[in-house]
Amino acid sequence: MPDKDELFYKKKSVYDILNEDELVKADAYCEEYKAFLNSAKTERESVAEAIRLASGCGFLPYKRGMELSAGTKTFLSAGGKALILAVIGKEPLSAGVNIAAAHIDAPRIDLKQVPLYEDSEMAFFKTHYYGGIKKYQWVAQPLALHGVVIKKDGSAVNIVIGEDPTDPVFMITDLLPHLGKDQEKKTLGEAFTGENLNILIGSRPTGEEKDENRFKHTIMQILNDKYGIIEEDFISAEIEAVPAMNARDIGFDRSMIGAYAHDDRSCAFAALRAIMDIGVPARTAICILADKEEVGSDGVSGMQSAMFEGFMEDLCSAGSVKLRDCFSSSFCLSVDVCNAYDPNFADVSEKLNSAKLGCGMSLCKFTGARGKSGSSDASAEVVAMLRQVFAEKGVVWQMAELGKVDQGGGGTIAKFMANRNIDTIDAGVPVLSMHAPYEIVAKVDCYMTNRGIAAIYGRE
Ligand code: MN
Ligand code: MN
Repeated sequence: MPDKDELFYKKKSVYDILNEDELVKADAYCEEYKAFLNSAKTERESVAEAIRLASGCGFLPYKRGMELSAGTKTFLSAGGKALILAVIGKEPLSAGVNIAAAHIDAPRIDLKQVPLYEDSEMAFFKTHYYGGIKKYQWVAQPLALHGVVIKKDGSAVNIVIGEDPTDPVFMITDLLPHLGKDQEKKTLGEAFTGENLNILIGSRPTGEEKDENRFKHTIMQILNDKYGIIEEDFISAEIEAVPAMNARDIGFDRSMIGAYAHDDRSCAFAALRAIMDIGVPARTAICILADKEEVGSDGVSGMQSAMFEGFMEDLCSAGSVKLRDCFSSSFCLSVDVCNAYDPNFADVSEKLNSAKLGCGMSLCKFTGARGKSGSSDASAEVVAMLRQVFAEKGVVWQMAELGKVDQGGGGTIAKFMANRNIDTIDAGVPVLSMHAPYEIVAKVDCYMTNRGIAAIYGRE
């Protein structure tokens, strides 16, 4: 008769399972992850940094008709905003591929296409927020501007300002509490409006008192001087305001990392690191770093795009395999963050089924809302397979659920992979303060997510 320990399911802290050597490895891994976060604050920068790292590990840009044999490492960029990496395995593609799919876009404040104006002796940028933000969190915060301006002749100007300690930063103003009588009566959702998230960018005039647009003039002069752009160039630009803060250790014990966009770069980096570390896998390994997840995965760089099929079709036709035969034998770990149980907001979660900080990679059988609506809901067979693989490879994992039943909900790219007839399940890093400008994760959970993905790539 099994004893109680065997009979009962219990979440365990990674600290109670890993030995000291492994904890040192986890810390070293997290130093690399923090460096990645600091050099990749947008989807474009994430792609560029991933390509830089992968190129150092022997990955070559994918070209149609290139030699594909066991051990070939290649990557395909979707316009510099999403990335697919592949390591060709020993087995034919009819045996299926092992996929880890993360996203590299994150909630932020985008500039509008005609952003620049002045008002009351100040210059501002108009914005349109991207993804699910709580607007009040983005005011009175130092912001950096990252992005690209594509000029009429097609040339690109990269912009990063606000990251170097000597750079200026930018801010959205908040109301002083002394005059907050009316504001305080409003709900969180009403007190800050999207249209009022205007970024303060200057307050020094050019020219003489009689001149018009003197504050705007100063800004355009500086931008023209520094980047060679004119106001019309904003129309074909993608400039994102992101928190001007680097990743830092959190807590006296340094057990956590605070940073912008752990969702979903904690999983994106875990997948990237894992595919860079495999030798020649049995089955072909695929790592996807998708864009547009935070707004529904539409568009050419989103996971609903045919770009993925196009790439996989190429790989399949090189081995005379039908794409549908490859997909039906494939497995996808949709690696995305989940909410970590927060005792300060205990009433939105059901404790038994919530992911806990420090208890390892979280598995989410389903996401969605209400009656599991909008969820692909992985099969029991898929979950059982993961239990087996993770047990073999010593991956510490836990079951997770996105809040109490009927409390809200959300989705990931899982359903878009599953709809392609690929067995898919969500797994990833539990996050505190998800979608806030500065989110929190546990270092051991980041490491375990990397180990979990590596276990999937190593699956026979
Ligand atoms: Mn996510
Ligand atoms: Mn998200």
